[in-house]
Amino acid sequence: MALQRDRDGKRLHVKSKLMGESLVSKRFVESLPLAPQVRLFPDVHVLKVGGQSICDRGVKALPGIIREITANKAKHKMLLTTGGGTRSRHIYAIGLELGMPTGVIAKFGSSVSEQNALLVAMLLSPWGGIKIGHDEIVKLSTYFSQGCIPVMHGMPPYDYFAIPPETGRIPIYRTDVGTILLADLIGARSCIFIKDEKGLFTDDPKKDPKATFIPEIGAKTLLDKDQDDLVVERPCLEILQRSEVLEHIQIVNGMEEGNITRALAGEHVGTRIFRE
Ligand code: ADP
Ligand code: MG
Repeated sequence: MALQRDRDGKRLHVKSKLMGESLVSKRFVESLPLAPQVRLFPDVHVLKVGGQSICDRGVKALPGIIREITANKAKHKMLLTTGGGTRSRHIYAIGLELGMPTGVIAKFGSSVSEQNALLVAMLLSPWGGIKIGHDEIVKLSTYFSQGCIPVMHGMPPYDYFAIPPETGRIPIYRTDVGTILLADLIGARSCIFIKDEKGLFTDDPKKDPKATFIPEIGAKTLLDKDQDDLVVERPCLEILQRSEVLEHIQIVNGMEEGNITRALAGEHVGTRIFRE
């Protein structure tokens, strides 16, 4: 980029389209030409191991999931994230009744999802499981070339700076959001949420036995439908709609052996929510 001198010749500027702009102007942001987003790791699958849905079931769920992941290691590069689950909900409830702000609640969520990342990485350690932090994203190639299965906690690092939601004080950008943001960031091959239900239903199937299964739906259609409850955190839908690199996300039941393998192979199992 060319350097440019002030009219009085005293100051140097770097000439660029952003020079002197507030970066707030809507018209300016719309007019700014962008190169298409680079897909940094297009062969890596991002998989979230659910907190409440999987980790909290302990020995009833995790060994099977670990077996299926390790069986796929030779074929697929996988980056795992973890949810927080019931322990997050417990500390959220205590924090909320004691008047804690959103940022403190988010910090609690980070530390609990990190406990689950440690647990999953330890269980995977004989097969190369390694717990990594957010700053280690740049080292992913090295981890994969060494035969590692990196595990990161799913909570995005807003922590104390978590944005207060419209209603209440529970951060809306939690571990599902951290997972899809990560997949978008690295231009992942897929973004798979391993949970304990077949996929998305018209309502929470644990509470409403009449809820019906939705195998496939567009993110915008689902947002517009404004369902009371969802299988993934609501902001995931907006993030998917805006993504330049993700075509869809997939929610699979990890309690049924074979689903993770099929999803990694690109098969449509569970629910696919696609970008419209
Ligand atoms: P995780 O532990 O992966 O964060 P959650 O327990 O937060 O998972 O979310 C998954 C749960 O969401 C499912 O087990 C299900 O009970 C519930 N759920 C709520 N609404 C829906 C819906 N519309 N379709 C499917 N599951 C739903
Ligand atoms: Mg959740």
